Amino acid sequence: MVEYIGIQGIQRILGQLGPAPFMEGLAAEIETDYRRWGEFDKSPRHAIYSPEGVIELMPTSDGHLYSFKYVNGHPKNTARGLLTVTAFGVLADVQTGYPLLLSELTVTTALRTAAMSALAARWMARTDSRVMALIGNGAQSEFQAIAFHHMLGVREFRLYDVDGRATEKLARNLHALGEKNLQVKLCGSVADAVEGADIVTTLTADKRNAVILTPEMISPGMHLNAVGGDCPGKTELHVDILRRADARVVVEYQPQSRVEGEIQQLPIDFPVTEFADVLRGAAPGRLSPAEVTIFDSVGFALADYSALRYLYTLQRQQNRSQSIDLIPHLDDAKNLFGLLTGTCASEAAAQGFDGILKNSSIELALT
Ligand code: NAD
Repeated sequence: MVEYIGIQGIQRILGQLGPAPFMEGLAAEIETDYRRWGEFDKSPRHAIYSPEGVIELMPTSDGHLYSFKYVNGHPKNTARGLLTVTAFGVLADVQTGYPLLLSELTVTTALRTAAMSALAARWMARTDSRVMALIGNGAQSEFQAIAFHHMLGVREFRLYDVDGRATEKLARNLHALGEKNLQVKLCGSVADAVEGADIVTTLTADKRNAVILTPEMISPGMHLNAVGGDCPGKTELHVDILRRADARVVVEYQPQSRVEGEIQQLPIDFPVTEFADVLRGAAPGRLSPAEVTIFDSVGFALADYSALRYLYTLQRQQNRSQSIDLIPHLDDAKNLFGLLTGTCASEAAAQGFDGILKNSSIELALT
């Protein structure tokens, strides 16, 4: 049997833990895994592009556990009442190749992206950052605001979206949190939102080289968390922002970011830093309060690996095990055909999910 977390499952986990502690815990897991960067089998994700969007597979493994995520990005979906980004994923035991967990990752992608953004900002943004502009107020936006509020102490959020209803929705959801120290300001333009901000998060969805931020909007000391540009031909920053002499650009995994990130606009030898080097002390996240730091995020498989392992452990800690019969467990492993003729009993039914886990080599504990 394979452990399963669907939409109700993630609602239950978040209901018990709360989104902010979940993201704080997940950020710790991601940080631990990024510190052992060298142990992971890494590759750029496999992407199939269409005029409407992209469908991607994101695998990685540390030799003990393997994970992959299926994720799409279809910016025109919202006009049809559908999400821009949906996802699910699998965690598997490398020793047997057996899947351990099949999980929803649509909600979890929003949580892990926000956790990753806030983690990067902890290393890159000025520590006195209290004001953040949030450009693009769609599905991901609440998660980013909650993560930056709780993990970085951001108190004021300046919101802008070309769709005023999205901004109203975000403001409503943030007000409903009832946080005393969280202020929200609705802005009439990107420039209005960005002026005086310490951190600018761009979260727009548009399948083109958009120019959401232009050079004159950027002040010394700002941290840019550029999340929405994540495909070839889909960017958010004017290239001159990346070229600023005082700019420091950090990416998740260079071979993927060179193709998908803001840095696709730059020559292949333009110097950038991988976040793992910042975490391991091999490169600075920020050298001075005046630097402009840019986290050019596209989303990397390692954060999904961390998220899947985190979910798997939480679900079992909360004694909420739910399993599905995705893989047959047979009395005679050579008699697969017996499943069809009824002559080979399924072991799983007899020993239950815990019995299968006892045979697994995987021991999991949270960081
Ligand atoms: P969404 O469609 O729900 O929201 C996007 C919002 O951007 C919409 O409200 C839209 O009106 C707004 N927008 C579009 N063009 C704009 C512009 N010029 N100025 C201001 N607002 C504009 O999408 P989402 O799920 O919130 O995702 C946002 C983006 O983040 C997508 O492009 C997605 O691919 C990307 N994403 C990246 C990561 C990562 O790890 N880097 C993870 C998840 C999603």
